Amino acid sequence: MPADRRAERQRALGDLLAAEGLDGLLVQSLPNIRYLTGFTGSAGLLLVRGTELVLITDFRYAVQAGREAGTTVRVEIDQASVWDRLKKVVGERATGTLGFEAHVATVRERERLEALVPGRWKAAGELVERLRAVKDAGEVDAIRRAVAVAQDALAAVLPTVRAGQRELDVGAALEQALRVRGSEWHPFQTIVASGPRAALPHARTSERVIVTGDWLLLDFGAQVDGYCADLTRTVVVGAADEKQKLVHEVVRQAQRRALDGLRTGMTGKEGDALAREVIAQRGYGEAFGHSLGHGLGLEVHEAPRLSPTAEAPLVAGVVVTVEPGIYLPGWGGVRLEDDVHLTPAGPELLSDNRVELVELR
Ligand code: ZN
Ligand code: ZN
Repeated sequence: MPADRRAERQRALGDLLAAEGLDGLLVQSLPNIRYLTGFTGSAGLLLVRGTELVLITDFRYAVQAGREAGTTVRVEIDQASVWDRLKKVVGERATGTLGFEAHVATVRERERLEALVPGRWKAAGELVERLRAVKDAGEVDAIRRAVAVAQDALAAVLPTVRAGQRELDVGAALEQALRVRGSEWHPFQTIVASGPRAALPHARTSERVIVTGDWLLLDFGAQVDGYCADLTRTVVVGAADEKQKLVHEVVRQAQRRALDGLRTGMTGKEGDALAREVIAQRGYGEAFGHSLGHGLGLEVHEAPRLSPTAEAPLVAGVVVTVEPGIYLPGWGGVRLEDDVHLTPAGPELLSDNRVELVELR
């Protein structure tokens, strides 16, 4: 991570802590630690105290932590316990009020903190997450590259899909194609759902054998430089029948309306309604039971949300998915998902939005 970008994030957090009346913050969320320092390890604690940042991790990351976190972060390596080391670091000087990430800390960790310095801890909201919601140019670029990997992988695999394969076969081919093209990992379990199983919004890829005329719903992601892409395409294996064409078209129109209509200043609820109204007008309102979208970044689900309960206004710089769906139990379902960067001028598509109905023959 460039030093100036890291410095900017650390400064922004300092402002936020001051506004919250906190003298420091213990950051436990690994994506938050990565965002603030560049450290990509799988274990660590970050103590932010005024302008000082102390990253505490273990022997496995002794070399990596110093290299990734740059010169503005003090790195402490503890062979035995990062919590014991935290106690020492906290004890170095008098502390005012320290925030902890209440949405991350376990009950046991909360007790541990209290034992370290009694009466100093205050539950903090999702402060770093608030900063992470707004992406800078480098982050948008990383998401765009992850999207490109995901799209290329799908384009390579779709022509090889045949009736007679199992969902797991298609999932394996897709995951291999993602990795070969540079995806660091699968940011979530790849969903390949065929036939009536496409009606399960979060289906587990199964041994079911695909037959001609089936829906095939593929929800998959890629990760590049830590940033996630999240796409869904729903195709027909063989020729589509009239009902399949109709339902697919309703979802496509709903998605189109949201992709065109999202604006800064709208609430997440208003954004969600853009697509939901189209589906409801066509009589399928009950069949769209999840929210329209979610933020994307270092995590595949982050702020903001596009949902019927999201009252927060959308600000410029967020990256969100737009993924309406219609699910009819016993018959199947359609979901179409693309990734969008919301700019002051309106939505900027990061994915190709190739959602015309594909019939694999
Ligand atoms: Zn998805
Ligand atoms: Zn999604």
